[in-house]
Amino acid sequence: MTPSATRTLHDVYETAVARNAGEPEFHQALREVLDSIAPVLAHHPEYVDAGILTRLVEPERQIIFRVPWTDDAGKVQVNRGFRVQFNSALGPFKGGLRFHPSVNLGIIKFLGFEQIFKNALTAQGIGGAKGGSDFDPHNRSDAEIMRFSQSFMSELYHHLGEHTDVPAGDIGVGAREIGFLFGQYRRLTNRHESGMFTGKGVQWGGAEVRTEATGYGAVYFTEEMLAVKGEGIDGRTAVVSGSGNVAIYAIEKVQQLGGTAITASDSSGYIVDEAGIDVDLLKQIKEVERHRVSEYAERRSSARFISGGSVWDVPGDIALPSATQNELNETHAYRLIKNGVVAVAEGANMPSTPEAVHAFQQAGVLFAPGKAANAGGVATSALEMSQNAARQRWDFESSEDKLRTIMRGIHSASYQAADKYGKPGDYVVGANSAGFVRVADAMLAQGLI
Ligand code: GLU
Repeated sequence: MTPSATRTLHDVYETAVARNAGEPEFHQALREVLDSIAPVLAHHPEYVDAGILTRLVEPERQIIFRVPWTDDAGKVQVNRGFRVQFNSALGPFKGGLRFHPSVNLGIIKFLGFEQIFKNALTAQGIGGAKGGSDFDPHNRSDAEIMRFSQSFMSELYHHLGEHTDVPAGDIGVGAREIGFLFGQYRRLTNRHESGMFTGKGVQWGGAEVRTEATGYGAVYFTEEMLAVKGEGIDGRTAVVSGSGNVAIYAIEKVQQLGGTAITASDSSGYIVDEAGIDVDLLKQIKEVERHRVSEYAERRSSARFISGGSVWDVPGDIALPSATQNELNETHAYRLIKNGVVAVAEGANMPSTPEAVHAFQQAGVLFAPGKAANAGGVATSALEMSQNAARQRWDFESSEDKLRTIMRGIHSASYQAADKYGKPGDYVVGANSAGFVRVADAMLAQGLI
């Protein structure tokens, strides 16, 4: 590493931390990228000269707004809405909306920053953004969700558009919320602008496989990592956290490829089903009835529910953290390693702490960071945008084929970049470097903006 690259990275990090005080998740996401790319800067001094990093860590635009709404009791409620439009060098801003009480500006910035590189890795011409609100959809009626969503969109719609910024779902934002948000946009603008939102219902412009894509993609990525070692998913046991969209479809794909996924979790605990998770039952409980995961154990004799504790106590060959940020710490990592884990792929965004990542890498466990492993969701969003622009609808099979090809491409770009920049087998360095170079080249070409 050249002294000037080291100094630049240090200065950029220190300045960004001082300028964005009190945002630890954003600092963590910055550090992970900046720690990876010193060898890239050594190859490309022109990036330093053009101030690429200094510009990259500062969002192009940040929108924070009041979201007033009335609950079913007629009481006024106020939430805070966010959209951080981080970087649009490669295409319109693109990234999900998260509705969860933990949401704050720092969380949205970490997600938006990661999204830049994730989206670059997909090679689908999409910039990076994220948004959301500290609204908690849990135990809210459909009418409350609708009133909140309409109020949220009444401000956000000014900043969206198919060539400007295209949101999608994330934690707490699924088909129901996207329907209400899209409906309000259509009403306010008098435009049925399909390409301004992804994750839409398949009957009104949504893409096949979008619902499944993040979970499926994470398993495809795992398959690619194992294939490099001459191994596969068949016959393997997988431990999965979460019970949302990502977890459900990761479990489904593991089983389709001959593996056995035996766990799922939520904030109240986790289930273990040594016979293999019954995906239809899990979907019924989570997607249709919107119940807790403990309900699964009530209805299936091979399963048990453990309240508290950690899903990472359960032995498995493959671990797919698919719940939320920093859910897997160093202690969990050592437990998984001791229990013989061979591959970890992040279905969620930044679910492993830096210490956990370090532990996996030191132990020689194949480790796929979220921005590579979970990019299948946003990649399929880009396929949705293509279909909307062409007024076409692709079938499930061809859409899944495209997803698989994209995941292979992300794997090989990450794998090759890790080699090129002197860290063979390190998918963190590989994904960060490959994504960064694409964005940096586009920024360089487009001048000082
Ligand atoms: N929220 C998802 C992510 O973390 C999907 C974003 C999208 O489809 O725009 O990548």
